[in-house]
Amino acid sequence: MVDPDQRLNAPVKSAAQRALDKLGLRRPIDLALHLPMRYEDETRLTAIGALRDGMTAQVEGVVTDSEVQIRGRRQLVVRMHDGSDDVVLRFLHFYPSHQKALAPAKRVRVRGEARGGFFGLEMVHPSFRGVDEGAPLPTSLTPVYPTSAQLPQAYLRKAVAAGLARADLSELLPPQAVPDGLMSLRDALNFLHHPPAGAGLSAIEDRSHPAWQRLKFEELLAQQLSQLQAKRERERQRAPRFALVAGGLQEKLLAALPFALTGAQRRVVEEIARDLQREVPMHRLLQGDVGSGKTVVAALAATIAINAGWQCALMAPTEILAEQHLRKLVGWLAPLGLTVAWLTGSRKGKAREKMLVQVASGEAMLVVGTHAVIQDQVQFAKLGLAIIDEQHRFGVQQRLALREKLARAAIEPHTLMMSATPIPRTLAMTLFADLDVSTIDELPPGRTPVVTKLFSDAKRDAVVARIRDAVAQGQQVYWVCPLIEESETLDLQNATATHEHLTAALPGHSVGLLHGRMRAADKAGVMVEFTAGRMNVLVATTVIEVGVDVPNASLMVIEHAERFGLSQLHQLRGRVGRGAVASVCVLLYGTPLSDTGKARLKAMLASADGFEIARRDLEIRGPGEFLGARQSGAPLLRFADLVLDEALVHQARAAATLLLERYPQVALDHVTRWLGGRSDYLKA
Ligand code: ADP
Ligand code: MG
Repeated sequence: MVDPDQRLNAPVKSAAQRALDKLGLRRPIDLALHLPMRYEDETRLTAIGALRDGMTAQVEGVVTDSEVQIRGRRQLVVRMHDGSDDVVLRFLHFYPSHQKALAPAKRVRVRGEARGGFFGLEMVHPSFRGVDEGAPLPTSLTPVYPTSAQLPQAYLRKAVAAGLARADLSELLPPQAVPDGLMSLRDALNFLHHPPAGAGLSAIEDRSHPAWQRLKFEELLAQQLSQLQAKRERERQRAPRFALVAGGLQEKLLAALPFALTGAQRRVVEEIARDLQREVPMHRLLQGDVGSGKTVVAALAATIAINAGWQCALMAPTEILAEQHLRKLVGWLAPLGLTVAWLTGSRKGKAREKMLVQVASGEAMLVVGTHAVIQDQVQFAKLGLAIIDEQHRFGVQQRLALREKLARAAIEPHTLMMSATPIPRTLAMTLFADLDVSTIDELPPGRTPVVTKLFSDAKRDAVVARIRDAVAQGQQVYWVCPLIEESETLDLQNATATHEHLTAALPGHSVGLLHGRMRAADKAGVMVEFTAGRMNVLVATTVIEVGVDVPNASLMVIEHAERFGLSQLHQLRGRVGRGAVASVCVLLYGTPLSDTGKARLKAMLASADGFEIARRDLEIRGPGEFLGARQSGAPLLRFADLVLDEALVHQARAAATLLLERYPQVALDHVTRWLGGRSDYLKA
């Protein structure tokens, strides 16, 4: 039942207010920060006689004639005159109010695009306003705001102007925190909402104007502050300390490995070990190019936790990837007497029950799997370390679930994230500013660089001939088929057709097929054949992307390479060049190529360095790839551009550190002003 008093008290919102809410425009400051996407120049009048076809202009004159005509459809046709010439205004939709305002002898100001019509120049659906003779022109450009269908521009303009007048725009920042040459926030906002007549629009539009610089700086500062604060909050939490003991599991594993760690691996293991010996929860990203050997680093971290009596969970975004980890880790750790549990969505029934019991009792010291590892039914006896591979490929929901699961533990576990997609430096400094980063910048020895070649799809036969040669010499080949957007069926047809074609073209050789629709056991079966060298060619959809490690595979063909993202291409290419044989990666492309497609393929030819490729990717497609779904819902950076505004990122970083140290209240006020209640999303 509705309580009548409550109903009376509930604020009744108009449709326009609800539309404002939807755009996130609630507080005066939100409105003040809602900036125009472009401007209309109503500060000048053009003589009707000077209008030309295609020109957008404002004219003023007196209506000489107004009539409703029926030419196929009803329309209002108005003729006006300003002493220099006549122009026709045509309205295909109109109300009686239009007719009234545009009646003969009325003086009107009209803005629209002039078009050459049958009866001379005309404007179709111009905007117009009745004025008195000699009414002054506005002195500033008229803002046009991003809006929604429910929110008329005129209403929004008024709301923004009111917000701008009411918002507290007082200077919060001490002068030494603001880079030289920037405007004050108040001046910057007043300027950008209402640039004076004659203001240079190009500096406004390309956002290089000092007013824009100030806004970008403020935004980056808010973001730096909230990240640094999150980091400090975490530093107040308690995590278990793992002592490093001589002769412990970690040393045993090191001694048993068939290879010596690279210098870079030794360094990152030390960085991680140092974190694990502290009471502060580790929050570290381990980045290293494909094939740089992150798994063994994860295993060493796990042994440190396990040796101290704590459990470790290792999660990967796909079952194939998780299984690769499982195989490696069991191979390394089972001989040391450790029980490894395996948890994925497809694991059901008795086997699953048994695993859950082992995890809950603490018998399983290491738990490997997909996000099934963080489901509610999984209770750890004593989770001390969570390792997340390719964490940016997990969805936001899964990441939040993980955070929650970890937060529910009495003691916060350490977390280690791993990624083969290196985060460009500006991103590392901004969106990931709360992470510590370790980088493996060296590949294990004995790898030969991959030669990359481009072929148009028309040269397919030549490529197949090349495969025949390679197979004849005992080499193994990957043929990767692209994901066809939104159609797994087409995807499969394509892969199946390629598989048949290659089988026919390579008599006497074994050609396998691997795709996402296969059952996990069948996929594993194919992988075993290929890994053991009994299969010569593996045709696969992108399921092999993160999966396999077969040193004898030295030729990779990527079909329709232009459809892949740059970092995905780089990861795929990383599957070859793992042995001593010189490897080749052939990028087959369909024509015509889009500009983006061209740029990506060029970048692949130009560089084999994951960092350089990640930087190019950021330029070509923006930060989405690195953020995954993190960006969904909330706009991350509305004003600043991480590629163009790198200098401001550095300045904001320095200012954030200064504020947190010397002006903590200012830091808080600034974050509140900019992020209001929205800072939560930064934590996902
Ligand atoms: P990624 O960083 O892409 O996850 P992996 O951990 O799968 O790379 O390692 C790639 C391959 O290199 C594996 O076969 C791994 O056993 C091997 N490897 C790792 N470290 C070394 C090393 N220091 N020397 C030789 N081989 C290594
Ligand atoms: Mg890996």
